[in-house]
Amino acid sequence: MKNIARFFEIVKGYGDVAEHDRVPAFVAHLDLLREAGDDPAVAEADPDDDAVPVLTVHKAKGLEFPVVFLVGCVEQKFPLRARRDPLELPADLLPEAMPGGDPHLHEERRLFYVAMTRAKEELILTSAADYGTARARKVSRFAVEALDLPSPAPAPRKSQALEALARHQPMPPEAPRPDPPLAASETLTLSFRQIDDYRTCPLKYKYIHRLKVPLLVHHRVVYGSAVHKAVQAHFRARVEGLPSSEDDVIAAFRAAWVSEGFLSREHEEQRLRAGEEALRRFIQEEARAPLIPTGVEQEFAFFVGRTKVQGRYDLVVEREGRITILDFKTGSIDDPEEARKRAKESLQLDVYALAHLRTTGRLPDWVELRFLESGLAGGKRPTAEEAARTEEAVREVSALIRERDFEARPSYMACGQCAFRDICPHTARNPEAET
Ligand code: SF4
Repeated sequence: MKNIARFFEIVKGYGDVAEHDRVPAFVAHLDLLREAGDDPAVAEADPDDDAVPVLTVHKAKGLEFPVVFLVGCVEQKFPLRARRDPLELPADLLPEAMPGGDPHLHEERRLFYVAMTRAKEELILTSAADYGTARARKVSRFAVEALDLPSPAPAPRKSQALEALARHQPMPPEAPRPDPPLAASETLTLSFRQIDDYRTCPLKYKYIHRLKVPLLVHHRVVYGSAVHKAVQAHFRARVEGLPSSEDDVIAAFRAAWVSEGFLSREHEEQRLRAGEEALRRFIQEEARAPLIPTGVEQEFAFFVGRTKVQGRYDLVVEREGRITILDFKTGSIDDPEEARKRAKESLQLDVYALAHLRTTGRLPDWVELRFLESGLAGGKRPTAEEAARTEEAVREVSALIRERDFEARPSYMACGQCAFRDICPHTARNPEAET
């Protein structure tokens, strides 16, 4: 995961400065990095992670591990065959006399020693006679020295044609190690987003919330988050009795803006302008019928069995004893019927209604989605039957997650909007199949 994250950083760093931000140019850039001695594929290992770090000996310097596998201990791999330096330092310029013998071999022996001494409890050296080349490999002289072995000298042999063919056979599928189920006594914490991701596709949930596969920031997320923060700042000011002008809201929007994930500078400028327009319209409309909130970004948490459901309401408004919970959306909904349909089918609103019932003992009178760009709204009056159905849905999802059931549920719609469709082996939207 860290290597993927590191790779994304390199992609992004390149995109920020590249004249031609395209794959062929990026691949050439990667080659240059490698030639210059960088190893873009290897992120820094964190010895505190409960994981198996795979790293070069150079990267292992200064670290220690309980168990170390030092693989490929054969001649010409460790030590590597010496390559002539194309620009050798003239002997007269050397600061001091070099020790006798082959300096390359000295350096490789030193590295082998470094690798072996990374192990605190167990060290396993591995070697094979056959690495797919015509000649059989000899065990590394360093392993022979370290273990005080008699020097083996296998007879050179030609790789058999059948063996060579067998090597290109696909590997038999390895039985995946089952993820142990979560004990019934342990608490599972879920947000609305996690429940929704699981219902969309359990594998998607696993990628995002269990494996935490890093994703490039998407411009929609940057835009949505900045608009939300500006709306929040507006209502916070109102709750605290402070003034909040259109310009204050725009300033909050600009302060929350992150210049990431946009397709081009023009695209970013376009989205900035769209956000400002939407917010100005929202503030003007809001001034005509001001909402007086009792809570902004109010947190909630309740239990369904041993599962804790937590989240935040965007806005809670109480007027003449009537409670309304609102959620603000950015997204191009400009048909009132569609806005109503979204609200009717919204699991998020259902979870809010259930949360309010479980934390205060009463259902809210109204739950609503407000679409900031079009100014449209869609809402519904929650019912006890609906709350019971939502609780049952939470119970079902949490039982499956506890069982570690992450079987893919591909569908044309779900996979089309899934950020993992290019790497997911189960996707119903295979880009190659579509072309
Ligand atoms: S691409 Fe489709 S099947 Fe794969 S994780 Fe995403 S939604 Fe699930």
